[in-house]
Amino acid sequence: MSDNRRFEKYSAIYTCRICDRRTRETGDSESYVGLCADCYNLGGLDNELSDGCIEQDEFNRKARAILKGAHPATLAAWEGQVE
Ligand SMILES: [Zn+2]
Repeated sequence: MSDNRRFEKYSAIYTCRICDRRTRETGDSESYVGLCADCYNLGGLDNELSDGCIEQDEFNRKARAILKGAHPATLAAWEGQVE
């Protein structure tokens, strides 16, 4: 019997391209773009802002909600962009 392949798929650890912290895939496919879950969500908001889909006020509100529970490294990386 040699069946040790269980759970290997989602256990890979990688470094987030934006906040530089070590993270792992949470199931939102964020590992495909090399970001942690928080930077992935914040990046999506940032795109919506630059595309004009949301206003700066809405961006700030949603971004602050994400950053509230974020890792200090993530917070430091985004601090200057959230008013
Ligand atoms: Zn990150």
